[in-house]
Amino acid sequence: MSQETYEQELINLPMVVDVPYRFAAGKYMSRFLLELRDNGRFFGTRCPSCKRVMIPPRVVCARCHVKSTEWVELGNEGTLAAFTIMYIPLTDPTTGKPHNPPFAYGSVKLDGCDAPVDHFLNIEPDMNKIRVGMRFRAVLRPREERRGDLSDILYFDPI
Ligand SMILES: [Zn+2]
Repeated sequence: MSQETYEQELINLPMVVDVPYRFAAGKYMSRFLLELRDNGRFFGTRCPSCKRVMIPPRVVCARCHVKSTEWVELGNEGTLAAFTIMYIPLTDPTTGKPHNPPFAYGSVKLDGCDAPVDHFLNIEPDMNKIRVGMRFRAVLRPREERRGDLSDILYFDPI
């Protein structure tokens, strides 16, 4: 049998991979998460060259390749820059549990920040009821339940 005409059955091997892991968040991300957990505040960093404010904070601006040293406090309100309606489950990486569809997911640019936060939108998942430019506010876990990870942001509520 020649290589060109040989059709081989492809076998699927079902498996479940469970890979729990931890990693050091680093100095900048740790400060971001600590402010969020302990004070409910968002902080980003500003690039000294292009002046972009980035969240989560970046040590080095990806465009300018210079170190960011200025910390900028941001509010918890912002503008929707993009969104989608999810029709498949999305697994929360901090819990391993799926978020059941349909639901709205969007990119919210906090006021004064140049990078969006991608998160769940607490709004009816209807394309006709959501639009770019809508205002949203971050809702955090109650203080005593915060864990110091991104799940401390529960979702964004429309204002
Ligand atoms: Zn820059």
